Amino acid sequence: MMEAKGLLKELLEFPGGSQILKCIQCGTCTGSCPMVDVMDYGPRKLFALVKGGDVELALKSNTYWVCASCYFCTVRCPRGIKITDIMYALKQLAVKRGYYPPKEKTPFLYLSFKETVEEYGRLSEAKLMQKFGVKSPGTIFKQMGTGIKLLMKRRIETKPESLENIDGFRRVIQKAKELEREL
Ligand code: SF4
Ligand code: SF4
Repeated sequence: MMEAKGLLKELLEFPGGSQILKCIQCGTCTGSCPMVDVMDYGPRKLFALVKGGDVELALKSNTYWVCASCYFCTVRCPRGIKITDIMYALKQLAVKRGYYPPKEKTPFLYLSFKETVEEYGRLSEAKLMQKFGVKSPGTIFKQMGTGIKLLMKRRIETKPESLENIDGFRRVIQKAKELEREL
């Protein structure tokens, strides 16, 4: 129960996170969502779980990972809740606290993207796929054919390039991490 309270507190502290408490459970978001058929719970139910204190169950669902960020729910919510932003907050919380839904591979892609950008200051598709392959070998194996075709057509670079001022960029990232720890 302590853990659930800690997770809820962390989620509410994200920018706009406390808006979740304004939800009146009208269901407009779920009725508008094009991804609802493949979600474990629609956004309305997801928010009901969170408000009820069951953040862990909400985090273990695939709902916020399959959210397509189309913003239909956000523009239609009668309470003005920034639902899509809360989906991003749930992703950040899940990655930070290690609450991955067992079959969901997107968190590995998310982490690989973050590590690549931190290392090079920009995205390198080849490096991203390499990191993703280490974290989720089965997924990358299925995409191998497409990767080889893209390489042959020179649509992905083989040698990642760093930002010109990569040291300055890394200092910015380091400072941001220090500030986050102080919060
Ligand atoms: S549309 Fe807004 S108020 Fe209605 S259920 Fe969804 S989040 Fe809650
Ligand atoms: S932003 Fe996400 S949750 Fe909202 S309607 Fe689009 S897919 Fe559904």
